[in-house]
Amino acid sequence: MTNQTTSPVRHDWTPDEVAALFNLPFNDLMFQAQTVHRQHFNPNEVQMSTLLSIKTGACPEDCKYCSQSGHYNTGLEKEKLMEIQRVIEEAKAAKEQGSSRFCMGAAWRSPSKKEMPYVVDMIKQVKDLGMETCMTLGMLNGDQAKELADAGLDYYNHNLDTSPEYYEDIITTRSFQDRLDTLQNVRDSGMKVCSGGIVGMGESERDRVGLLVELANMPQHPESVPINMLVKIEGTPMGDVEDLDDFDFIRTIAVARIMMPESHVRLSAGREEMNEQMQAMCFLAGANSIFYGCKLLTTANPEENSDRQLFKKLGIRPEQRNQEHGDKEQQAALMDAVKQQRTDAFFYDASQAS
Ligand code: SF4
Repeated sequence: MTNQTTSPVRHDWTPDEVAALFNLPFNDLMFQAQTVHRQHFNPNEVQMSTLLSIKTGACPEDCKYCSQSGHYNTGLEKEKLMEIQRVIEEAKAAKEQGSSRFCMGAAWRSPSKKEMPYVVDMIKQVKDLGMETCMTLGMLNGDQAKELADAGLDYYNHNLDTSPEYYEDIITTRSFQDRLDTLQNVRDSGMKVCSGGIVGMGESERDRVGLLVELANMPQHPESVPINMLVKIEGTPMGDVEDLDDFDFIRTIAVARIMMPESHVRLSAGREEMNEQMQAMCFLAGANSIFYGCKLLTTANPEENSDRQLFKKLGIRPEQRNQEHGDKEQQAALMDAVKQQRTDAFFYDASQAS
């Protein structure tokens, strides 16, 4: 949804001007973000993805926030690579619930030679269901990225996590440059990029600025930008870090929206702990993508039904996959989901509200 006054897509943001956005009066920032949002997207549509962990735990990396790192004792049960058939069943169920994209995540440093044929097969079979596919498997070299792209993978997720300056406080087993290299390999392969970060890890506002400057000054913005609120996991070094103020989180979403006007900004991990009003503020700030499903890798995610209720209250519709060449089956699934909602006892009917 574009019009003649569309704000330009820039790749030359300076930290000072981004800091100035963060420091705008809240209402001015929200107005600016919502204005930019409306120039590029339908403000009442939110893209829905479902995320499945296809291999959980025992990761050799030391990301200080992560329940899956083998470096910390978080009590998480380790699992082997999930069988393809189970993955396909989960993907079918996600499609029936209205998800347009199926994201598969494995806790690996990078996929091994032995594992690649399995993930390639998963991609092909999920694609055959008519869904968009996304994977997050750790670092990729150029050949691996090409192999996944050739199999039909649409998106690859690899987050920058935080600013280059704060990065070494969070991860030591792979460098910031490693991450940029993987993102470059993904871009070169022709896949779309999903990359964002985590806030609430004890970073400063300047670090949130630094993260967004890195993302927005890439030659091409990531098509998806997940902004995660840290979910504190007992047993990790981030288990008792101080809470980030909710308004600082909303500001981060709003600034991301202004800086990357054509990207889907995803309200990701941490949504479970946000009330409806907080989520609504994030949508108003320009978030237009969520993970939908009962598990977000290993942290809880709001139950599907409560998402539907919130969407109904806000008049939000799930964004359909590929607007121009709409997949009929997908549209039918969405319509069924809406119909089902109408008969839901918890259905919110504004005309009955007192
Ligand atoms: S965030 Fe990813 S790479 Fe880091 S420890 Fe967790 S699963 Fe491993």
